Amino acid sequence: MGNVIDNLNQIEAKIKELCVKKGIDFNSIELIGASKFRTLETLKQLDADGRVKTFGENKVQEFRDKYDETLTWDIIGQLQTNKVKYVVGKVRYISSLDRLSLADEIERVASNRGVVQKCLIEVNSGDEECKGGIPANEVEDFLDKLKSYPHIKVVGIMAVAPQGVGEAELKKCFKKVSEVFKKIACKNPDFKVLSMGMSEDFLTAIECGSNQVRLGRILFGDRP
Ligand SMILES: *Cc1c(COP(=O)(O)O)cnc(C)c1O
Repeated sequence: MGNVIDNLNQIEAKIKELCVKKGIDFNSIELIGASKFRTLETLKQLDADGRVKTFGENKVQEFRDKYDETLTWDIIGQLQTNKVKYVVGKVRYISSLDRLSLADEIERVASNRGVVQKCLIEVNSGDEECKGGIPANEVEDFLDKLKSYPHIKVVGIMAVAPQGVGEAELKKCFKKVSEVFKKIACKNPDFKVLSMGMSEDFLTAIECGSNQVRLGRILFGDRP
């Protein structure tokens, strides 16, 4: 565990340095622990430290195995419609809302349970190399359609960057998503979260406007 705290100290130092350089408010950046393959014990210890307050799980089965109501959870991986019932009302955000059929099921389950489920729209930067999510130029249309879902509240965007591209291409992808985010956020006060950046690219993502980074290996060490 000492390692994880050391890692976190180093991550925070790097983010602070960038924030000073770029005039970004450090406190506006949320760090999420991308907690796939990590034990509940590790997560509880990190939670006690207090700086990482939310854990993002990829797979519903792993989330169900680990679930502890004293921690805060997000679902950050692809979500199958038939698994929605296991997460609605238990997670803070479903960060991978990327199709209306998924929204239909979230709405149905949330309505049955009398809860409003907060979600992030998963966006593809529109570049061919940026996989997953809906194209950047379709986000506003998608959001419009979601207005008729009273038990879904969309609070932002999540994007996963393409793997193995150069810094310039990466920035292009992040900036494209960031532009879409800003355009929506300035007319929609609920729209607050821009989740971009993982171990390899979190500093670039923050520089491009991200206010939530999802950290796995750089925080917890190599995957077991
Ligand atoms: C695993 C994962 C992360 C963290 O990945 P690292 O590269 O280990 O930091 C972030 N977001 C999603 C959606 C993931 O699946």
